[in-house]
Amino acid sequence: MNFDESEIIGHLRATLERFVEKEMPRNLVAQWDKANNFPRDVFKKLADIGMMGLTVPEEHGGAGRDILATMIVIEELSRRSLAVSVPYIMATCYAGMNLDECATEEQKREFLPRVADGSLIFAYGLTEPDAGADLASIKTRAERHGDVIRINGAKRFCSGAEISDYIYTLVRTGPEEARHKNLSIVLVPPTAAGVTIERIDSLGMKGAATTDVTFEDVEVPLANLIGGEVGWNAGWRMLVGPGLDVEKLEVAAIAIGVARAALDDAWSYAFERRQFGKLIGTYQSIQHKLAEMKTQLHAARLTVYQAAWLANEHRDCGVESSMAKLFATEVCKFVALECQTIFGAYGYVKEFDAERYVRDALLLPIIGGSSAIQRNNIFKRANTYA
Ligand SMILES: Cc1cc2nc3c(=O)[nH]c(=O)nc-3n(C[C@H](O)[C@H](O)[C@H](O)COP(=O)(O)OP(=O)(O)OC[C@H]3O[C@@H](n4cnc5c(N)ncnc54)[C@H](O)[C@@H]3O)c2cc1C
Repeated sequence: MNFDESEIIGHLRATLERFVEKEMPRNLVAQWDKANNFPRDVFKKLADIGMMGLTVPEEHGGAGRDILATMIVIEELSRRSLAVSVPYIMATCYAGMNLDECATEEQKREFLPRVADGSLIFAYGLTEPDAGADLASIKTRAERHGDVIRINGAKRFCSGAEISDYIYTLVRTGPEEARHKNLSIVLVPPTAAGVTIERIDSLGMKGAATTDVTFEDVEVPLANLIGGEVGWNAGWRMLVGPGLDVEKLEVAAIAIGVARAALDDAWSYAFERRQFGKLIGTYQSIQHKLAEMKTQLHAARLTVYQAAWLANEHRDCGVESSMAKLFATEVCKFVALECQTIFGAYGYVKEFDAERYVRDALLLPIIGGSSAIQRNNIFKRANTYA
């Protein structure tokens, strides 16, 4: 076994560290967080240094599919802010990888080069008011009228809909009882007539604001059906393919980034803050907290990188990606809360990033399949105890 990071990954991390320090300074990130703003200019600059192409094949203008490298980009961006890393995921993974796996050749030619050059942003419209973990129960309906698809229904928690060029929308194309057998995926421009978007005020994950989206007799061309003719009623297969395992890893990579930032800040603060005439970092209770955070984070990183490596090798990683998502997001929550404890009162005010880490960390065990759903997956799919 070789646990060394390759030279390429080391170079990638160094490039991103420089990018983050230059384009995403802490004061700017705090403003994006406060205003719930998406920094489109920074996103474009990220594309300019080639980061958007890591899930796009070379023939479509990308650098070729590299899951591990993509996870490193997500981790490094998330160390500073989710305002760039979440739209990055929605463009490169949710859309880029899914299009590469499921779209027609014509759709690939049209969309993938624009994913790779950072000119397209996607939102993901899956969740509905009555359909969270149980996505096969969605009610948003689509009907075909010649070369047009007409959509009616409502999506909840559709993050980034306002800033997107297309909403990747899961629709039902037949009776509800058939559940996953009659679902399809349609690209809906948020500017289409009949689309209404309203912000939902959430605790964290600012930047790609999460929204309610309603569709009232929204019409899009049949060409927007992912996979073309064969994509009709094939949406479930597209959703739960290998892309689903990578989706779990994307959230896990965010968790690693946020947890690293929280641990770094807590460590520094422990050796700046004095109480009773001594640095608080010289008290054993604080040292034990730091040691425990570091240990948990180390284990989480290894779990995530191993699952990403499996995905990169096109090997089955259904169980490993669920374990990585479960473990990394719960560790992130633990580390963010411990960081806040070390900061004391300063961990509860906006002057420092510690409170934002908590707000963002609390979301991660919920999205991309909750911790309970990951435990279900692990138990169902793992066929042995060792
Ligand atoms: C800020 C934010 C951004 C989001 N962005 C998006 C987005 O861009 N696109 C999108 O489509 N969705 C998005 N979501 C929605 C998110 O993916 C869902 O919240 C998530 O899938 C869980 O659904 P739910 O909240 O309705 O919970 P529910 O499914 O109602 O679950 C409630 C509780 O029951 C548990 N539970 C449910 N079923 C089971 C079971 N079978 N076994 C054990 N326990 C179970 C869950 O673990 C949870 O604890 C976002 C949510 C938030 C908060």
